[in-house]
Amino acid sequence: ATPMSVTVGVGRAAEYGILIRDAEAMQLAADIDTVVLDKTGTLTEGKPQVVNIHTYNNVQSDHLLNLAASLEQGSEHPLARAIIAAANTEALVLLKQQSFEAKPGFGVIGKVSEHQLLLGNARLLQQHHVDIQAAEEDVHDIASKGATPIYMAINNQLAGVFGVSDPLRQDSISAVKRMKAMNLNVVMLTGDTLITANAIAHEAGIDTVIAGVLPDGKAAKIAELQQQGHKVAMVGDGINDAPALALAEVGIAMGSGSDIAIESAQFALMRHSLHGVIDAIQLSKATLKNMK
Ligand code: ADP
Ligand code: MG
Repeated sequence: ATPMSVTVGVGRAAEYGILIRDAEAMQLAADIDTVVLDKTGTLTEGKPQVVNIHTYNNVQSDHLLNLAASLEQGSEHPLARAIIAAANTEALVLLKQQSFEAKPGFGVIGKVSEHQLLLGNARLLQQHHVDIQAAEEDVHDIASKGATPIYMAINNQLAGVFGVSDPLRQDSISAVKRMKAMNLNVVMLTGDTLITANAIAHEAGIDTVIAGVLPDGKAAKIAELQQQGHKVAMVGDGINDAPALALAEVGIAMGSGSDIAIESAQFALMRHSLHGVIDAIQLSKATLKNMK
């Protein structure tokens, strides 16, 4: 049977907007020493917006945006929504896709108006042997501001780069500060590129960054930390966070996250704030003390 104090703890947590799916997780939460944070949608607002468009090889920027948004109609990724929204703002009429394939961790591939398109990170274009040298400076500018560069190739030739910005939530800064004051190791874990991740981590006050992780690589990174003897809480919101949420001693999902993330976690935060992570740990500690 669940001890009375745990039942009370679960009830108190609910008052803080923390749903606990598994009361035993409070025991584990009281003992963690490391908090691993996903970037997009966890530390950041999770509402990315196109802030720059650069073109190469004489491509017109409206043409680039139209083809990109037409291709992204097939994607559920937050970056896809940003590109479609930018095209809508320009009142562009989207075109029909002739083919479409999502490449998780890389981007999307397909055909629109007889143009063969690649849209995604450097890894995707390099895989298809597209020369991306001409974009180097623009990409560096985008990433060093903490925005995500998204490359596009038309018929295997570099056509443009989008800068997509998803700002840090201001209360993430104070939440990280509190975590560090509690002597927790704070780690950022993201599929985004290192320069972008470092810029956001710097702003958030996070010293340890693991970037460029493929969707199925996040859980492996949690396992590495556990092998080093750490007790890990993973905080995330995406489909690609689900295996890591499940593997960590404690999985904490943002309540706004995908269903699969919430189902994989023991805690869900109904307020969109990382202060909920600290509340969850402190309530767990207090609940355990009452049991002893
Ligand atoms: P994360 O959500 O942590 O950024 P993902 O694995 O979803 O990790 O994506 C990794 C990278 O792959 C993104 O930062 C982006 O560069 C690229 N990518 C993924 N999906 C898309 C998409 N639909 N459109 C453009 N780029 C994409
Ligand atoms: Mg995320």
